[in-house]
Amino acid sequence: MSVISKSTWIAFVALLIAAPSMAAAEDGFWPEGKTYCVTLTYDDGIRSQIDHALPQLKAAKLKGTFFCTGGATYLWSQEEVDRIREEGHELAGHTILHPCARKYDWVKPGNAAEDYDDARMAKELDENLANLVSNGVKRETATFAYPCGGTTIGEDNHSYIPMVKERFFAARTTRNGFHVPEEGKIDLYEVKTVAGDQRDLAYQLSQVTAAREKNGWVVFMFHGVGGDHLAISAEDHKELLRFLQNDDNVWVATFQEAAAWVKSKQEG
Ligand SMILES: [Zn+2]
Repeated sequence: MSVISKSTWIAFVALLIAAPSMAAAEDGFWPEGKTYCVTLTYDDGIRSQIDHALPQLKAAKLKGTFFCTGGATYLWSQEEVDRIREEGHELAGHTILHPCARKYDWVKPGNAAEDYDDARMAKELDENLANLVSNGVKRETATFAYPCGGTTIGEDNHSYIPMVKERFFAARTTRNGFHVPEEGKIDLYEVKTVAGDQRDLAYQLSQVTAAREKNGWVVFMFHGVGGDHLAISAEDHKELLRFLQNDDNVWVATFQEAAAWVKSKQEG
């Protein structure tokens, strides 16, 4: 028989006393008794994500989702794309030319979302998806993020969400906030996000804490990490990962994994 020390026993009793929340977690929404979910997403396929985000994710043993434009290899070498996949991250769609509303002054003439018709967008989504598939992504579960969060195209600003639905498993917008499964069904083609861009660690942690309190799902959106546009500092990114790595309550899942879980729960 093993000998249980008094301190171990006390710790065990303390756990039992804390049982109401643990029991709730057992019956809760998220897998393996986890009480909330965090998804880390990185947009636009930019250099600093390779230089800073990837090694930090690896060190923290966490997986992220990379929504990249330009057929997945826009600003990255094929080797870097392979590395993302090999390290277990999700490679995901973000169109080829990143069409955004004309109101942004950096949008090139002819490349605005208003300049797109259905045929042009369909071609671009198909190309984007084909490229992901050629890089090892499963066609049935490939996910997508709307460039600039815009879900409309054409001068009449009609929705292209139905076209995304035909091709992708789930899609992230840039609408601010996080989801609370207990508060109602989550539309997996209009998933909200918390823009981590240009915000400090305190802000990121406040969002994580808010999601944790409500057993929610927070999908962070990052662009530059320690460089490039809309950057978060490499130090703050590292600290956020460290927090998540050390919180036993959190399920850190790729966008695809989390969306698949939400879908199974909502259909079940
Ligand atoms: Zn983007």
